[in-house]
Amino acid sequence: MKKIRTYGDAALQVKALPIAVIDEKIRNLASDLIETMLKSDGVGLAATQVGKKLRVVALNVPAPKRSQTQSALSPGEITLLPLMPIVLVNPEILAFSPFEASKEEGCLSVPGIYAPVSRPVSVKLKASLPDGTPVSCDCGGLLARAIQHEIDHLDGILFVQRLGMESLAKIQDRLKALSEKKEKS
Ligand SMILES: [Zn+2]
Repeated sequence: MKKIRTYGDAALQVKALPIAVIDEKIRNLASDLIETMLKSDGVGLAATQVGKKLRVVALNVPAPKRSQTQSALSPGEITLLPLMPIVLVNPEILAFSPFEASKEEGCLSVPGIYAPVSRPVSVKLKASLPDGTPVSCDCGGLLARAIQHEIDHLDGILFVQRLGMESLAKIQDRLKALSEKKEKS
């Protein structure tokens, strides 16, 4: 299990580099990310959160409740949800839905803080699985939100940087406390 960097750590602000070849090192990083994410009860974990400057993310997005019909699922959810937990190498978003929705998010790097983030409701994802299989699909639901949150991490962006002024004001004190705790450690 890797140490998860928290708010105030410079590692969370770096832009991660694309992977040229998926080798043993990347596959080891993939299993470390999955193990650390599962033990921390996370829905996702990016390599930058464990101090690795590489474009790799782990996801463990739960399947929607039975009340939601199968027809409401996006092609990406139908393909990827049964494979969870998964690792995506070089994930990128080729297109965003013009429609946005606001939903509460949290982050293993910003422990104990939750706030509503407005994001496009669906995205067209392109990535590779660690075995080299290419993935290209339209993703909706929580999967679309998790993909955007994790790719943000690879670009050095935290969800708290996407909050409206009002939501940010509400958590400002707790954020300050987190970064002060970080400085002392
Ligand atoms: Zn996060």
